[in-house]
Amino acid sequence: MYDRELETLDAERLRAHQRRRLRALIGGTLAANPFWTAKWRAAGLASPDDLRDRDDLQRLPVTAKRELVDDQAAHPPFGTNLTYPLERYVRVHQTSGTSGAPLRWLDTQASWEWWARCWGFVLAGAGVRPADRAFFPFSFGLFVGFWAGFEGARALGALAISGGGQDSATRLACMESLGATVLVCTPSYALHLLQVARERGIEASKLPVRVTVHAGEPGAGIPAVRARIEAGWGARAYDHAGMTELGAYGYECEAQAGLHVNESEFIAEVIDPATGAPAAEGELVLTNLGRAGSPLVRYRTGDRVRLATTPCACGRTFTRLEGGILGRLDDMLIVRGVNVFPSAIEAIVRRFPVEEFQIEVFRDGELDEVRLLVEVDGGAPGARRVQDALRSGIGIRLEVAAVAAGTLPRFELKARRVVRRSPP
Ligand SMILES: [Zn+2]
Repeated sequence: MYDRELETLDAERLRAHQRRRLRALIGGTLAANPFWTAKWRAAGLASPDDLRDRDDLQRLPVTAKRELVDDQAAHPPFGTNLTYPLERYVRVHQTSGTSGAPLRWLDTQASWEWWARCWGFVLAGAGVRPADRAFFPFSFGLFVGFWAGFEGARALGALAISGGGQDSATRLACMESLGATVLVCTPSYALHLLQVARERGIEASKLPVRVTVHAGEPGAGIPAVRARIEAGWGARAYDHAGMTELGAYGYECEAQAGLHVNESEFIAEVIDPATGAPAAEGELVLTNLGRAGSPLVRYRTGDRVRLATTPCACGRTFTRLEGGILGRLDDMLIVRGVNVFPSAIEAIVRRFPVEEFQIEVFRDGELDEVRLLVEVDGGAPGARRVQDALRSGIGIRLEVAAVAAGTLPRFELKARRVVRRSPP
């Protein structure tokens, strides 16, 4: 279960903890799991004894999502990253499919408990206690999303309330009647619920919600988005990072100084995405230590991060990603020679009374042209103010067009606000 002592281990003891768990993982995986056995034998690993120290991990190759997708396509439906016979697995989930075909992932009894344990760190970091009532406005479909968060709330001893199979108005009524004190959803959906509350004359800030926890998008790490959620709900909003195939690895503490990586359950590395060399800022590479049935070792997350160099005020010794996830490497746009992450655009757009927005990208040769559609108060003059702020904030002039309220798509799961179109 959630363990405060693990979060405050000194560097030496934490490394010893990781080394012990890594050896157990490699030992159990090598020879048993066809995917990793093939990959590691090709890299020259004969025995787990070849990995004596945590740093020896770097002798193993990194793995990209493409390899997992290809493996599942070649060996449907679950691929070959299976350490045990299929009857050992008790849960199946899949990625949200925002970037291509969904990836399916199986969990054993033990690894499903592991998910709940990891979410215990996330919720405890946000100050959630057993007396809390946590509401999950989530569809509870195949996407793992907040299934694991629901289990985490239960494991922590809080009351876990399902918001599945309900529309937004019913969810608000349910939160009110059951006295929800914690809201767990994507940042977009927290904003959408506020809009629905306004339309119905409900003052969300008067509800007993005191903590909101967000994942699925970078939103809660973006100051302007966080400020809107916190003002609307009268609560503190916390960011969290996780992936279906990896687990729930990153969370904020009360200091809200970036994301801590749960180093008792994951080994984090940051590499230069071009060369693979260790770097202070670059791509996050993670190894999960508690999902033995389908582990990931040195997995390229595709997330750009920057490692903090100073200890956190909260006393946790787990490493920290400054500013959370800075952006998805494959989302990066190159607009007139300037690298722009959609999250940087969102950080500026959300300072304005914008209900929803969309980034249209037109690729012309090697260049990205970007047009921003915004549902903004004040129509064209409102759009112009957004444009001016973008120009001074990121240094380039983007076309910004106002569209009528309610015309852009709304999202309950991961938002898809970047839309690629062919040039007009
Ligand atoms: Zn901290």
